[in-house]
Formats: sequence, structure tokens, C-alpha cells
Amino acid sequence: MRAARTMTATNDSSRVLREFYTTLFAAFGPQYWWPGETRDEIIIGAILTQNTAWTNVARAITQLRKHEALTLRAIHELDESRLADWIKPAGTYRVKARRLKALVHWFYDHFDGDLDRVFATPLAKLRPMLLSVSGVGPETADAILLYAGDIPTFVVDAYTRRILRRHDIIDGEAGYEHVKRLFEHANSPDAHVYGEYHALLVALAKRHCKSTADCDDCPLRDWPHDASK
Ligand code: SF4
Repeated sequence: MRAARTMTATNDSSRVLREFYTTLFAAFGPQYWWPGETRDEIIIGAILTQNTAWTNVARAITQLRKHEALTLRAIHELDESRLADWIKPAGTYRVKARRLKALVHWFYDHFDGDLDRVFATPLAKLRPMLLSVSGVGPETADAILLYAGDIPTFVVDAYTRRILRRHDIIDGEAGYEHVKRLFEHANSPDAHVYGEYHALLVALAKRHCKSTADCDDCPLRDWPHDASK
């Protein structure tokens, strides 16, 4: 029987978060996330994936690819109702079409659609700019910056919060920026590590830390946890 590890104080959370990463990477290996062949495709996927499973996003992306509309330029030029029609499989398609158009409009308005210029902008300036775009919240902004821009900013989602809550690293009131800072404090800025870590947490939540947790075979079972949270 394995001895339970202990976390005695909140300032241990950095150590624990580093241990989680090492353990998850050893258990699951590289995740090759985000699925997308181009920066345009990753950005489009970041909007489409809001509040839906990736399988639905993949179907919408297939539709856009079929219509040669999987680029920011194509979406910029596309009629919004036609775009909505093509992304139907992703759900809430009218809202997502409006958000995609707003985001692409922003890229063209501020950077002439040049992603090299977008991602060369300092993070401290670029992130607030992205967050000002209608329909772009912190999770979407950070996913775009991290996976399309290769910029080290940690992505926090509901899975991440659930895992940390069950391990008493955060409480239910912890805000997005607080959770993000915990990870960024624990790990030096490295887009590759941040990208893998987020993907590993998603894999963990899907395989073990579901709404009803399956702790017995979970790689994190040796750390104190309360799966009823
Ligand atoms: S399944 Fe259990 S051990 Fe695994 S992360 Fe969730 S609470 Fe922790």
C-alpha cells in the first residue's frame, strides 16, 4: 500500500503542481494538443470549442475545410449566416459565427490580419486587447495565445478547477486569474510545458477525474484528495 503524500501549507502548492505535471506526463505521455494544422485552424477551433465537446468541433472544422473556409481570410470574407450554417455541428452556431466574425474583424482591424504581428505584440498588451473582443473570455484568449501564438500563458478550464479543488489546492471561489497564477508561479514560462500540462489535465479529467471520480487507478491517487468536492 502506498503512503499518502501530504501537503502541509498553501506554499507547497507550487511543488505539488510540479509533481502533478511530472506524474501525469509519465503516465499519459505527450498529448500533441492543440489539434490543428495551422494557426488559423487553432484560432477558429478555440472559438468553436466553447461549451461543446471536441468531437462536435471536429465535425464543424471538417465542414469549413470542405468549403475551403478554414482560414481567417476566408472567414473575414464570408457571409455570417453562411458561416453559421457550416459550423452548425459545433452547437450555438449563430453565436459562434458572430464571435468568429468579431475576432477575425479584430485581427484585420488592428493587425491587418497578420498573425506574425499579432503574436509579436507583448503579452501584457496583447492579452487585454484580445479579452476586449466580444465573445473572447480568458480561457479562449489564453488558448489562442498559447497554442496558436506559442506564448507562455496558462489555460485554465473547468477540468483544471475540479482537479485542484478535489486536491484542496483551491476552493470553489477561486477565480480564473488566481488559478492561472498558481500554475505560472509553479512552472517557469515555457509554452511547450504549459501546452502539455493543460492537455494532460484534460486527459486526466476525461479518464479519471470525471464528475464521479475514479480515483483507484488515477495517477494522482497518492496525493490527498476528496473526490466528493
Ligand atoms: S480522480 Fe481522484 S485522485 Fe484522480 S485527480 Fe480526481 S480526485 Fe484526484
